[in-house]
Amino acid sequence: MTGQARIIDGKAAAAALRAEIATEVAALTTSGRPAPGLHVVLVGEDPASRVYVGSKEKQAVEVGMASVVHRMPAETGEAELLAKVAAFNADPAVDGILVQLPLPKHIDVDKVIEAIDPAKDVDCFHPVNVGRLAAGQGKLIPCTPLGAMLLLKQVLPSLAGLEAVVIGRSGIVGRPMAQLLVQADCTVTIAHSRTRDLPEVLRRADIVVAAVGRPHFVKGAWIKPGATVIDVGINRLPDGKLAGDVDYAEALTVAGAITPVPGGVGPMTIACLLRNTLTAYRERRG
Ligand code: NAD
Repeated sequence: MTGQARIIDGKAAAAALRAEIATEVAALTTSGRPAPGLHVVLVGEDPASRVYVGSKEKQAVEVGMASVVHRMPAETGEAELLAKVAAFNADPAVDGILVQLPLPKHIDVDKVIEAIDPAKDVDCFHPVNVGRLAAGQGKLIPCTPLGAMLLLKQVLPSLAGLEAVVIGRSGIVGRPMAQLLVQADCTVTIAHSRTRDLPEVLRRADIVVAAVGRPHFVKGAWIKPGATVIDVGINRLPDGKLAGDVDYAEALTVAGAITPVPGGVGPMTIACLLRNTLTAYRERRG
């Protein structure tokens, strides 16, 4: 017998989160306080990055934040970028700093990330914030895993005791995702490129989080019937369409709930960036 999974609407969830943030920002500004300031730096002309940065700016402005995008040429030197970051660190009107990745090859990414004041690191990539998250003390939470957790909680009010498998161990998605799931009392397995028998690992998974970067990689037959599937993957197919890491058509007949691509985790990521900017504001300015 085949069923039809509940489709988790990330677009609607993101719109609701943005509306909540907009209400909070409006309450601040009507009481005479400054709007949170989000400053995004884009170095070079990477087409995908330009689109992401444009969406970040638009959505930040829509929720009432003071958002500025600083577009710098691809030839920008590391020292110049570090000086920019230092200026943002020192500016009390700047609550969130985001340096869009990837950076041109001649710039040391780690050096730039480590130069950002952890209190303003709204991407949550700074080692101090990575450490705080690992210690269970994170105030700023990496945007994509945070968005995925919020979607999970829509369908699973309590995650305690559930078996979760995260496929992918990147610092941006897989690892922080696993930490959040552990903190939510799941029993967590991280699978990765050297995992021996992924279908076998997935057999027990009540929750599957796929962050691999390979279209349609996770087959429907690998999914435990009724499982909740969070597909983080965003892959461009040769025909220009977007696909997730999960074979959506197959998974739809097996899973209990699933996020589509597009329209699942993707829209939550920027909404969570705005959430982090507001959190950074509150932590620093009260
Ligand atoms: P990454 O390339 O850094 O990591 C991919 C991970 O997949 C690695 O840890 C690797 O071990 C694992 N992997 C590769 N082959 C595997 C295999 N055969 N079996 C099991 N694991 C395997 O990628 P990332 O930055 O974590 O991104 C993953 C995906 O999520 C990409 O499609 C990316 O576009 C997408 N993404 C989406 C958002 C969003 O906003 N929704 C944000 C970040 C990344």
